[in-house]
Amino acid sequence: RLEMADLRRRFGARTAVDGVSLSVMAGQVTCLLGPSGCGKSTTLRMIAGVERPDSGRITVDGRTVCDGALWVPPEDRSIGLMFQDFALFPHLDVARNVAFGLTGPKRAVQERVEELLERVGMTGHISAYPHELSGGEQQRVALARALAPRPRIMLMDEPFSGLDDRLRDEIRDETLDVLKAEGTAVLLVTHEPAEAMRMADEIALMRDGRIVQQGAPYNIYNAPADLAAAAFFSDVN
Ligand code: ATP
Ligand code: MG
Repeated sequence: RLEMADLRRRFGARTAVDGVSLSVMAGQVTCLLGPSGCGKSTTLRMIAGVERPDSGRITVDGRTVCDGALWVPPEDRSIGLMFQDFALFPHLDVARNVAFGLTGPKRAVQERVEELLERVGMTGHISAYPHELSGGEQQRVALARALAPRPRIMLMDEPFSGLDDRLRDEIRDETLDVLKAEGTAVLLVTHEPAEAMRMADEIALMRDGRIVQQGAPYNIYNAPADLAAAAFFSDVN
């Protein structure tokens, strides 16, 4: 379970994130949904620990990882990342990409790698290099790599945006199955209402650095909080 309380971040005169509080439950997908520039990626980067908030608190399974002077570095937060520009290592084959964040006995690492590649349907590509894989296949390996160290939280920032429509639906569904099987808490960032409707257990609608509405997808879709929220959802059917 991921919790954040009153997260804030300014860039010069511009307030990118203006008091965001949100909880993400284990085994659930929460979507941070909103238009370009509303502060979604900045929020995710603060949770990941690659951007420092001006104020606010972040806890992972009850452990505070960020609060005032308290600061846990990204690699110690038990957080997995799948970002659109977070590519595989080109000089490592599939097995070594997935094993990258793993420590421990060689045998255990190998078993975990095989288990994950099986789960994402990439067993047949274990010795391939990233440039030998299609976009969808690379995405599957990236998911396996992100899950390898068993993170409690998975942060995903528009991870499916590089894929064509049909493949995107397929990978989305597979990704959900894998994440649910691992019991990971997922925070997924998207600016596409249709993607949020398809993937989310809970949607947090964001605008101008704030969460303006939060709830189950169909509740938000059927009862948007205001005209802007209604207009934002008008393309979904
Ligand atoms: P998109 O859907 O386009 O990815 P977003 O919701 O992820 O948008 P952010 O990337 O969080 O938006 O940016 C929020 C605001 O903060 C924007 O106005 C952006 O220009 C600004 N911003 C983000 N990072 C920086 C930075 N490092 N320096 C200055 N301004 C920044
Ligand atoms: Mg963004």
